[in-house]
Amino acid sequence: MTLEEAQATVDKWIKEYGVRYFSELTNMACLTEEVGELARVISRKYGDQSFKAGESQDPADEMADVLWVLLCLANQTGVNLTEAFERNMEKKTRRDATRHKNNPKLTSNH
Ligand SMILES: [Mg+2]
Repeated sequence: MTLEEAQATVDKWIKEYGVRYFSELTNMACLTEEVGELARVISRKYGDQSFKAGESQDPADEMADVLWVLLCLANQTGVNLTEAFERNMEKKTRRDATRHKNNPKLTSNH
């Protein structure tokens, strides 16, 4: 699935099942909430925290939740994520072409 198809899939779902998009501000809060849920799973799976009984342990599902809300926000604010991501990758490549390769902290044992 391409980003364009993902944006269209979310839009179709919202029109079919969601009645309408939540407001941009509500979805911004939802995005923050979902990022927190992802952080919770990551901190328990890879960090020092342990899972409680019955708690979500699937980072993939939480990443999909984050992506879902981001796709909603893109749709309702008129952002073409394919174009935005391509521009962003070009920017990063231009800016960081040698930056990380020249960072000794990334190759030595810290
Ligand atoms: Mg979630």
